[in-house]
Amino acid sequence: MHIKTGDTVEVISGENKGERGEVQRLLRGRLSGRQQGQSDPNDVRVIVAGVNMIIKHQRRTGNVRTQTGRIEREAPIDISNVMLVCPSCGKATRVGHEITGDGKKLRRCKKCGETIE
Ligand SMILES: [Zn+2]
Repeated sequence: MHIKTGDTVEVISGENKGERGEVQRLLRGRLSGRQQGQSDPNDVRVIVAGVNMIIKHQRRTGNVRTQTGRIEREAPIDISNVMLVCPSCGKATRVGHEITGDGKKLRRCKKCGETIE
């Protein structure tokens, strides 16, 4: 996977195109797949902080501490609609993968050539 939690990404298609934010969560597989204990590695969505906000109407549940009413929260975005933003050059970029001598996997920006932690 070329994107992970904590990365900054840019939305490259859809109504939020051009918006950037930090990846808060990666969601793998559809609900049905999860129920069967399977997940499709190609079906990955991301929650990006402050991007793709929806208003959710939260009903009171058993937990009295649960916030109720209108809650603004991020809706998942298909991972194919976002690109990693390189922390070095600040551009949305493709990343290449490299294995270092000690077996560590590195990501490298294809635009500026810098490694990405
Ligand atoms: Zn770069």
